[in-house]
Amino acid sequence: MTRDRQAVQVPDRGMERKTISLPRLTGLRPTLESTMLKITEEVGELAQAIGKFRGLSGEREVRDEAEVVRAIVTELLDVAQTATSMMFVIEELYGINMDEEIERHVEKLRQKGYIAENPASTDGAG
Ligand SMILES: [Mg+2]
Repeated sequence: MTRDRQAVQVPDRGMERKTISLPRLTGLRPTLESTMLKITEEVGELAQAIGKFRGLSGEREVRDEAEVVRAIVTELLDVAQTATSMMFVIEELYGINMDEEIERHVEKLRQKGYIAENPASTDGAG
């Protein structure tokens, strides 16, 4: 498996980020409730895909690893998409600026010690 990492190094503190850009779904009229239900549904599908990976349902058939990983990635992105849809709903309904909230979120993670200030280089590129 190749490690084609779509991450950027933020120059200020060397923090690695995963940047995702997902669309607003204009063909739907999502609400807080509908997006919450959809997130739950997609999380269930993700758990199911991971369960197949581990044979948690007792399947005898051994599934191709690449196929299972593809299913996991698909469901993970469905979770991200539904979370993104909820962000649009929250911005529209409550005037929240999600870009500012993301920075606040990252600062919270830093305060909790989940982001090392001087991480060791993990891939030899830094
Ligand atoms: Mg799905």
